[in-house]
Order: sequence, then structure tokens, then C-alpha cells
Amino acid sequence: MMSKVIVVGGGPAGMFAAYFAAKNGHSVTLLEQNEKLGKKLYITGKGRCNITNASDMEDLFNNVCSNPKFLYSAFYSYTNDQVVQFFENYGLRTKVERGNRVFPVSDHSSDVIATLTKALKDAGVEVKLHTKVTKILSEEYLDENGQIVVADKKSGTLKQTVTGIVLEDGKIVNTDALVLATGGVSYPSTGATGDGYRFAEKLHHKIIEPTPSLVPFEVQEAWVTEMQGLALKNVAIRIEREGKKVYDDFGEMLFTHFGVSGPMILSASASIKPAYFRDFEHDLKLYIDLKPALDKEQLDKRILKDFEEAKNKQYKNSIQKLLPSKMIPIIINLSGIDPDKKVNEITKEERMKLVELLKGLPITIIGLRGWNEAIITKGGVSVKNVNPSTMESKLVNGLYFAGELLDLDAMTGGYNLQIAWSTGYLAGNSIE
Ligand SMILES: Cc1cc2nc3c(=O)[nH]c(=O)nc-3n(C[C@H](O)[C@H](O)[C@H](O)COP(=O)(O)OP(=O)(O)OC[C@H]3O[C@@H](n4cnc5c(N)ncnc54)[C@H](O)[C@@H]3O)c2cc1C
Repeated sequence: MMSKVIVVGGGPAGMFAAYFAAKNGHSVTLLEQNEKLGKKLYITGKGRCNITNASDMEDLFNNVCSNPKFLYSAFYSYTNDQVVQFFENYGLRTKVERGNRVFPVSDHSSDVIATLTKALKDAGVEVKLHTKVTKILSEEYLDENGQIVVADKKSGTLKQTVTGIVLEDGKIVNTDALVLATGGVSYPSTGATGDGYRFAEKLHHKIIEPTPSLVPFEVQEAWVTEMQGLALKNVAIRIEREGKKVYDDFGEMLFTHFGVSGPMILSASASIKPAYFRDFEHDLKLYIDLKPALDKEQLDKRILKDFEEAKNKQYKNSIQKLLPSKMIPIIINLSGIDPDKKVNEITKEERMKLVELLKGLPITIIGLRGWNEAIITKGGVSVKNVNPSTMESKLVNGLYFAGELLDLDAMTGGYNLQIAWSTGYLAGNSIE
């Protein structure tokens, strides 16, 4: 049967949901508040759009941070290969880069958006821009006292049916089915307003508190900012909460004017329990191992060798070979050794202090950078309220969810867009 379908949100999830619902013969209208579709998509992958990741299924699941099991049906219903095939079929050539990241050959995210726009047209989707939804209408089943009836007493599931939406100008539009694909709250300038959370909450869905993720850290130590712009490669990090290890990694990081960033730091922000970032009463410390290839004994030998070579030099002029130049004054200062001291006068105890510092440069994390810098939102509509095989709400008939609005998030590498494509497909394709 042909249904009237409204999709709210013209991001990747909404565009896919609209396309597949229309391909199934439904009459679909896609509503987007912005002046154009895919405003966030445009800035993805630094303007090149890392469309998906070409790794195997296990890798896809391993890179999902929140609720990977919920995505089982979605990822298998619409795989990364199918995403690539979809774009290729509509004439967008793709390429695979380091880490199996898939990009358009043109390196332009605008080509991804143009391809989607062409597909929507081809499927007969009516796209309405500058159209902001302000309310979702539903029919609630009330008892004689005006209380909402719990239809399924066993599971405690509320049952309502979606009936339409209200637009900003007060206009009501009726619908048989509705897909909410309004995204999260990161990069608000792209239209990420959190409207979807409010709509879903009003309809009794649980919202897992949104936290910025894939986001840099703010730190306490002022000396960190003196190293801004310095990128470290092949270093190891360890993050401890109240002295207990909560995360470790090896790779690249960057010092900034407010703290630390770079691939390892962004990944850490997505992997550590969000609750730890809400409660900075508990000490959260980052330790950087600047010489991960050497154990403490080996590092001490290496320092001794450098000291041998610089026998008559002052300490401040003796560790040039060991560290990037921007770091030297900081380490000299933190080591507590007199910078003017002759190298051959440095005691073993002092040297061990330096070793400790190089194997675990301590930095205090005091916050996350805000929504303007977070690549993704952690949290959102609880997946417990959503059927993983259809993306339909368990509480409201005819209401479907897709994309970042849900409590789903993943690492960088194309995985977040794969979530948008797969859940968008499943929502659009499940509408009867
Ligand atoms: C800087 C940056 C780079 C990124 N790079 C990548 C990358 O390379 N690869 C990757 O996999 N992921 C990347 N991501 C993440 C990716 O962009 C998101 O996961 C994805 O856009 C989520 O898609 P969505 O459709 O759920 O939400 P969105 O893309 O946010 O789309 C939601 C849409 O809904 C509209 N909307 C909201 N409320 C209303 C309303 N009330 N009425 C009407 N319309 C409304 C919004 O205007 C918006 O257009 C990046 C994110 C950022 C911020």
C-alpha cells in the first residue's frame, strides 16, 4: 500500500530514508530547515567526505563506540559495499585510501551531495528546504481519566500512532509515517539543534544525555599551550582516573592553544565513559610516553650516552637529540634539574626524574572542547525504545529514527556515515 511519508532532516540519514521509502512506492516529502541539503555532509572529511570504510564487518562493529549490537540488522541490511555501489551507480566514482577510508575520486563532498540530490529526484522525493518542523503530532490512547494507556502491559510499552507534524508557520501536515533524522548537536551551525531529542522525549522516548565526542581535551597546565602546533608521532598515551588506567593508545597527537588534540586524543574522547567527562572532581590524567620504544632502563642508557657526548655542556643544552625543540624548555623546567648545571654533575636521582617524565609526561584533563568542535554526539534517543530490525519506535507506531539522533556513535574513518546510511536505509525501507 502506498503511504504518505514525511522525513525530517536532509542529512545523509534523512536523504537515504527518503530515497528508499520513495523507491518502495511511497509518496515522500523530505523537510529540511536549512537552505540546502547536507550542510554537515559538506564539511565531512575536511570537505572531501569520507563516505564509509571498506573494511570487513567485524571492523565496522569494532569501530562503533555506543550500542554496536543494535546495528547488527542495519549494517547487514545495507553494507559498506552497498553504499559504495549506490554512489557508483549514480555516477560518483570512489577510491579507497589509508585505513580503508572511502572518498569520492574528485575529493569533493559537494559531489556526494549532488549525487544524493540526483537520486532523490530520480526516486520522486519532494524536497522542501527552509522548512522547520516544530512539533510531532501523535494520537495517544487515553483512558477515561485522560491518562495515556499502556497498550502492552507486559513490556510496559506505550502505544501511540504518529499523525503529522507542525511547521514553524503553524501549518499542520498529516502523514502515515514519519522518519526523524534530525542529527545530533555537534557543529550547531549546520542545523544540529537537538530538536529531534525534544520531539522524541515529548513522545516518551528516553534520551541518553548527549556529550561531545571525537573532540579535543582542555587541560590545566599552562605550559601545554607553549607547545601549541607541535605534533607528536609514535608516542603512547595512558589516561588514568584517580590513578586507574581507563585508556591507552599509540599514535599521533597535537598540542593546541587550549590543550591537546589529534587522532589519538579524539579517539580517546569517544572511548572513555562519558560520565568521566562530566565529573572532573575525580582526577583525570593524561600521561604521554615520549619514548615508547625504550623501557626506563634503556632510556636511561640513552640519556647517559647523550650526556657523555655533551660532557662539558650545561643540562639545558644537552637533550637536543632527545626531543623536539619546542619541548626542550618545558621538559627542562618540569624535570626540576637546574638548567645551568653541568651535565657531568647531574646525579642518578635527577636523571631518573627525567626518565620518569619522558616515560609519562603528566597532563591534567579538565574538560572537553564544546559542541562547535565535536565531530559527533554521543548519546541521543535510547536504542532501547527502537526496534533494531526496522528502526521503528517501540512506543509510537509509524515513527522511525535514523542517524546521529540515535544513541549511536563511532570512531573516525567513515563509520559514522555508515551508521547514517544503514539506519536511513532500514528506516525508509521498513515503512509499509
Ligand atoms: C567536521 C565534521 C567532519 C565529519 N567527517 C566525517 C567523515 O568524513 N566521515 C564520517 O563517517 N562522518 C563524519 N562526520 C560525522 C557525520 O557528519 C555525521 O555522523 C552525519 O552527518 C550524521 O548524519 P545525520 O543525517 O544523522 O545528521 P545531520 O547530517 O546532522 O543532518 C540532520 C539534518 O536535520 C536538519 N534538522 C534538524 N532539526 C530540524 C527540524 N526541526 N526541521 C527540519 N530540519 C531539521 C538539520 O538542519 C540537518 O540538515 C563528521 C562530522 C563533522 C562535524
